[in-house]
Amino acid sequence: MQSELSIRLNDEGYKNWIKAGFCLQKIRDCLLGFVNTEMEKFHHFLLQTNSLLGQEICKNFCRPQGTKFQRACFLCEEWKKEILNHHTNQNNVIYWGNCSPQLWPNCAWEVAKVYMPRGQANRQGPEKSDAAALLNLINSCDQFNFVERQKVIEIIKCRNDLMHSVEMRVSAEWLDNCRKKILVLLQEFQHVPEAKAANKIIQEIVSSDWRVQITATDEVDALKFTDEEINAGQIFNAELELIREWVEELGFTVEEQEALHLQHLNSLNTFKEFLKQNNELKSVLHKEIEQLHTLEKKLKSGKRTVKDQDGEESNLEENEDIKTSS
Ligand SMILES: [Zn+2]
Repeated sequence: MQSELSIRLNDEGYKNWIKAGFCLQKIRDCLLGFVNTEMEKFHHFLLQTNSLLGQEICKNFCRPQGTKFQRACFLCEEWKKEILNHHTNQNNVIYWGNCSPQLWPNCAWEVAKVYMPRGQANRQGPEKSDAAALLNLINSCDQFNFVERQKVIEIIKCRNDLMHSVEMRVSAEWLDNCRKKILVLLQEFQHVPEAKAANKIIQEIVSSDWRVQITATDEVDALKFTDEEINAGQIFNAELELIREWVEELGFTVEEQEALHLQHLNSLNTFKEFLKQNNELKSVLHKEIEQLHTLEKKLKSGKRTVKDQDGEESNLEENEDIKTSS
């Protein structure tokens, strides 16, 4: 087991991938409190602006689905209108299905979820959000108009690169670029003490050259950092979180597309191979392995076709690589 861990965490490209994920998680951690407070203010502002909003709670069990919110009652229509009024790009796809309209009058975060990407429905509060959710909220809600939007968009792009990395690896050059963009973004939040503090940690993580060492007692030694030691547990947690997000994102992408792209097929196979080589992760990634199997089953039973980059199609059933294996 230890040798698997040591090979994995000492692989340069994979290490860069984890480091970037760690940095994004730091952005989330340092902005969470601030963003939550801003959303409380925003919610209060909406209730003040439109007196209808605070009077009642939807009793029609209105339920938006995915990007659609049809047959909204009068009250929900008012909420929709106000929420959209404060969207910075109303032509964007809006994931209404993220929220329960019944909670809008009393829960600021439920309103915030309208400005976030898909997949937020079961996340009840800010502490359950990932960096992508927070960054998209900042980008899409005009409560954050003081932030230069392009700087946020750059980090959203970095995050997407990370999630769509078929090999779960990035180059040192990419990582350094991402680091620079993160620091530029954090400049916008220098009035937030946690964001100021995050600068230093992010610099340290990116520039560190950690090695996982196995001690004589078979325990994983602390990862060695240039300035300080961050224990292996922290890195391991960041790693798990990133892998979970990566699998979830793959699921969403496949779900949304009519044709399965070769790239996603490769991602699926990378993950299977990755688990084969890192047996100890299987015990902690139950849910993700389950998701993987569901995804594979769906792909096998569906009439989906595989498209390569040139748009050439081939029948999925003929592709041996996709067959389920444990
Ligand atoms: Zn309603």
